[in-house]
Amino acid sequence: MFGVRNRSHRTPLGICRAFLDAVFPPSCVVCGRYYRFDPADKGGNLSTFHQVAAPFICGSCRSEIVRIDSPVCIQCGLPFISRQGEDHLCGDCIKTKKHFRTARAQAVYDGALVKAIHIFKYGKKTRLAEPLGLLVCETFFRFWDKESIDLIIPVPLHIQRLRQRGFNQAALLCSRWADRNGITYDARVLKRQKKTLPQTTLTKKERRKNIRGAFALRFPQRVKGKRILLVDDVYTTGSTVNECARVLKRGKASAVDVLTLARAVDRL
Ligand SMILES: [Zn+2]
Ligand SMILES: [Zn+2]
Repeated sequence: MFGVRNRSHRTPLGICRAFLDAVFPPSCVVCGRYYRFDPADKGGNLSTFHQVAAPFICGSCRSEIVRIDSPVCIQCGLPFISRQGEDHLCGDCIKTKKHFRTARAQAVYDGALVKAIHIFKYGKKTRLAEPLGLLVCETFFRFWDKESIDLIIPVPLHIQRLRQRGFNQAALLCSRWADRNGITYDARVLKRQKKTLPQTTLTKKERRKNIRGAFALRFPQRVKGKRILLVDDVYTTGSTVNECARVLKRGKASAVDVLTLARAVDRL
């Protein structure tokens, strides 16, 4: 998958690679340090998250990434402080209407994951798209299967922001694995028509107002009756994905789910 180096030591190629790894050990994509990667780590001694991340994120950085597991909010995926009990609706989802069905994320937006996303987005290190995309892919298969989704759409950037950055990070996080798994991927169907203020500086209420009317459908016929998965890098208050979901539902999408790499959890 994704061209992660095959480090099987059984084949002549594997032996050469093992030699190369000893001479040029892999460097961590987050902290840049060289570290020893044990190919047996991919064999099953570690949890799925660590197996996926071990070839490119060192053990120390991995230990800073908090994977999100139950109990979480059934709808928005917020992890609850109490680690006991079943999944249930959170206070915010009871109070505020969500246009999406469920949102899930790989890990808490904190520590090494914040660093990785910042390097990827603002440091323009698009080579991180591969490892981070793998983590998004792993989350997808944890909560969905490919028969349950008809169309994957990355949250679009405004054309000016896209020109400035040179890439849409949400698109890079899902285009390859969507294609590889034969799931229709469409980065053009939804467009960001309004230039909004950066959401990071705003309160929750301001975010909702700021993002209202920001998205429109370019090809409404492509979403009609479809089960759609929206992909983004970070879920903060959910205003952005909720607004996208509203537009998609208005375009007669049958259901909209949300998948992000990280999930901001204020209280942690
Ligand atoms: Zn590291
Ligand atoms: Zn919720």
